[in-house]
Amino acid sequence: MEEKGIEFIRLQFIDIFGVLKSMNITPDELDEALDGKLMFDGSSIDGFARINESDKCLVPDPDTFQIMPWRPTEKGVARMICDVHNPDGTPFEGCPRWNFKRVLREATDMGYEFNVGPEGEFFLFHTDDKGRPTLEIHDKAGYFDLAPIDYGEDARRDIVLTMKQMGFRIEASHHEVAPGQHEIDFKYDEALKTADKWVTFRDVVKNIAKNHCLYATFMPKPFAGENGSAMHCNQSLFKNGENIFHDPNGDYELSETALYYVGGLLRHAKGMTAIANPIINSYKRLRPGYEAPINIAWSNSNRSTLIRIPGRRGKATRVELRSPDPVANPYLIFSVMLKAGLEGIKNQITPPPSVEEDVYCLTAKQRADLDLTYLPRDLYAALKEMENDPLVEEAIGSHCYNRFLEGKYKEWNEYAEQVHRWEMDTYLRKY
Ligand code: ADP
Ligand code: MG
Ligand code: MG
Ligand code: MG
Ligand code: MG
Repeated sequence: MEEKGIEFIRLQFIDIFGVLKSMNITPDELDEALDGKLMFDGSSIDGFARINESDKCLVPDPDTFQIMPWRPTEKGVARMICDVHNPDGTPFEGCPRWNFKRVLREATDMGYEFNVGPEGEFFLFHTDDKGRPTLEIHDKAGYFDLAPIDYGEDARRDIVLTMKQMGFRIEASHHEVAPGQHEIDFKYDEALKTADKWVTFRDVVKNIAKNHCLYATFMPKPFAGENGSAMHCNQSLFKNGENIFHDPNGDYELSETALYYVGGLLRHAKGMTAIANPIINSYKRLRPGYEAPINIAWSNSNRSTLIRIPGRRGKATRVELRSPDPVANPYLIFSVMLKAGLEGIKNQITPPPSVEEDVYCLTAKQRADLDLTYLPRDLYAALKEMENDPLVEEAIGSHCYNRFLEGKYKEWNEYAEQVHRWEMDTYLRKY
């Protein structure tokens, strides 16, 4: 920090609902922070702590130290991602990051390294002269501009360059299917690092977009009738540096372990949906016809199923879970995915046969023959499924589990009480 002239340190963590929180300290306070003595009021964070047990500590992980390149270079700003502890130094059960480390230990005990590569999709909107997001997307606006500058392409280029400065290896970045929609893929890594990188990625996208007078949203489905944004989670298990999902002699060149892992994910697919798709709007994305999953099925390269095995083999053999969206808390969804996959391996859960048909186009009879079941269709159904699946509570810990359900039922009830535009349009004149 001395070398780089860092004057501010941002201590970051994300709450149960996936929202990034941060607290600024100066370098003078860093020693105290590293010793786990930096207290904050946990009752002010959604779902964290009640008022009578509210003192919590932020313990920064030095491995996550990063300079924020979009901040001034003189008197610069760095950040560190933190775990949350209790004042007596014990880890706080409601800290999603600490919880994920707990689940990761199960994989490590089995000799596995868990790797995740997420695909990041988001939309860019224009802002008004007060910097507030409008509903105008950049490329549509660009269409009518006198000098047709694509602000979105420029912003994305800047996002990629900034991520590179922060140590990301970018594999691809492109305009996505919907107008105003972009995708950036960075190279997979050991899962805790990937979860931290996802938090960083979202922060970079939002900040750089702002510098381009755009507003970036990870809201899963901003427009009816267009594709939504996902966070496909590509995952694999390595043992001694080898990808154990690959078996050149197996069906589809997949190992038995890979198939059991898929079996575990499918068995818990309903229970994990609320964690993968945590907001009301998430379920507007999970509709037929937009490359998002609706049924519980897996396939060898079909983009209409919940799980796809992308074509690449060898080190790149992976299971792609296509339901998670970009507002999911990465630590929580990774915890549940991993736990479900490990259960599949331990209990040797063989998945049903793969489905290679486009599941959006099946007749009712074909669907019945394939015995296809649906993912929960809204947040309420997903919460009910979560309550029916004890694995989810084991995976995210009782504290996160209970607070998540509490917060989300409240969100559902608020929504359910609203009268929506669609209802007025459809019913007002009809009845
Ligand atoms: P898609 O074909 O679904 O669009 P992408 O090419 O956009 O896939 O993204 C692939 C992602 O999978 C990248 O993040 C990549 O690093 C990741 N990936 C590659 N190999 C592995 C692996 N063995 N384990 C986990 N993720 C992997
Ligand atoms: Mg992709
Ligand atoms: Mg995509
Ligand atoms: Mg897409
Ligand atoms: Mg994908």
